[in-house]
Amino acid sequence: MKIILATQNQGKVRELRDLIDDEGIEVISLQDISDWEDVEENGETFAENAAIKARAAVRRTGLIALADDSGLEVDALEGAPGVFSARFAGEPKDDERNNDKLLSLLERVPEEKRTARFRCALIMATPNGEEYLTEGTVEGKILGQRRGADGFGYDPVFFVPGLGRTMAELTLEEKNNLSHRAQAFHAMIPILHNLKERE
Ligand code: IMP
Repeated sequence: MKIILATQNQGKVRELRDLIDDEGIEVISLQDISDWEDVEENGETFAENAAIKARAAVRRTGLIALADDSGLEVDALEGAPGVFSARFAGEPKDDERNNDKLLSLLERVPEEKRTARFRCALIMATPNGEEYLTEGTVEGKILGQRRGADGFGYDPVFFVPGLGRTMAELTLEEKNNLSHRAQAFHAMIPILHNLKERE
């Protein structure tokens, strides 16, 4: 069985291949598709945006397609930046400016009110119109300044209380074990194997 993960990010492709651990399932990505045209992600939720990407990949390839969408929700900002996480500080997307904007918006917010979470929605869409949704979340707090040098995006300001470290202070392996994306991918594996059995 061949499936497509609708992403250009080879890190995500590697993670999914590792999790599937089945030589009978081949995972390709958008990098294997010539003339792929990006679709507008204009959904109001992560799940809607993931579905938009997954449906576009099914239309283009006729394969079972998976697509994820993720971002940061900050309670003191009523869930922002949410689906606007990548471009929170405007175009072109820039992690440093996004973190500067977040820290300045939260400047006067006390520690106990700085709760936040990373959320990921993963959609699997099939050529006959079935859709499956799995999700993952990591709860944390936004620090007053950056800590740590690894990761990307909001990782340096996102503190995970259970670990006593920010996401940017975790090794890639540690992050991949607990991340919102890893949880959503994990939850999709049995559904994918079921689909394969049915083929
Ligand atoms: P995407 O859905 O993977 O494209 O992520 C959208 C945006 O959400 C990224 O550009 C980041 O700003 C933010 N984001 C998603 N996942 C993470 C993460 O694991 N760490 C830090 N930022 C993230």
